[in-house]
Amino acid sequence: MDILPQHVPEILRIKPSVTGVTDSYMWLASKSGVFSAKSGYYAATAAEAYAIVEHQRTFKAIWNRKTSPNLQLFLWKLVQGALALGENMAKRGLMANVECRYCGELETAEHIFLHCSHTRHIWSNTIWSSNFNPANYDSFSAALLASVSGIMLPPWGLAGDIFPWIVWGIWTARNLYIFENRDSTPVEILTKAIRNAREWHQAQASIIPQMWLDLHLTAGRPTAPGDGVF
Ligand SMILES: [Zn+2]
Repeated sequence: MDILPQHVPEILRIKPSVTGVTDSYMWLASKSGVFSAKSGYYAATAAEAYAIVEHQRTFKAIWNRKTSPNLQLFLWKLVQGALALGENMAKRGLMANVECRYCGELETAEHIFLHCSHTRHIWSNTIWSSNFNPANYDSFSAALLASVSGIMLPPWGLAGDIFPWIVWGIWTARNLYIFENRDSTPVEILTKAIRNAREWHQAQASIIPQMWLDLHLTAGRPTAPGDGVF
């Protein structure tokens, strides 16, 4: 575990045989369990096609959503493995401080943003329209995709996309804790995320009327917008 901490979750998922059968290699892409060139070719092309589709879906789930461009960039870096998380540091050979500062487990994107007990408290304080609970997803990308259709309900309810703001709040709270030793409670993180989201959405709402005024307020007289402008 000290040598390959980034593979600990996968290793722990391996279940030994209950009947005591000896371990052996199986090729899962064929019914017989034996590898053949044909089954290898189909497995490789299917995996490649699947990866391309998943990449496109994740791309859209970030860049097509109505949220701050800074948050879109943050989410993109997150799914690309470009954040300074413990797991990503370990992959680059930097083995110091790869654990979650809240609980000591390996700090993966899934752990810090979905599964850490500290994070679960945040998600358990939110209620979504579609039974969406980020803590139930195995991968961050899967939670991100599902979040596109998730609307948060009262008492925190907000007309708009809140998931990226909470993820950003978790990240900034984690950084404050590590670098300034300032701890934030789950409710504080949630409250701040919702306030930031609300301010951003209100700012967008005020930008459009101002743009309309700039475009149509000619010679001191406003001009009515044409059909379909709004
Ligand atoms: Zn943790």
